[in-house]
Amino acid sequence: MKYLILLGLLFGVIMWFKFSRPSGSDRRSTGSADQPQNMVRCAHCGLHLPEKEAVASPQATYCSAAHRDAVEN
Ligand SMILES: [Zn+2]
Repeated sequence: MKYLILLGLLFGVIMWFKFSRPSGSDRRSTGSADQPQNMVRCAHCGLHLPEKEAVASPQATYCSAAHRDAVEN
């Protein structure tokens, strides 16, 4: 009888891990993957990169400050 309770407890813990862990990591991974990343193109070399990492200027976007300077200065 004691083992049956232990087995049930173990089963409950396993199920809890199975259902709580993947959903948590799934939410995190899909959250970043599903987030639409706006890609922009460097006006100098044509490289595509996320808008967050791009160097923006009033005229265009660039992959680096060096490329912005190469075009605009
Ligand atoms: Zn570039």
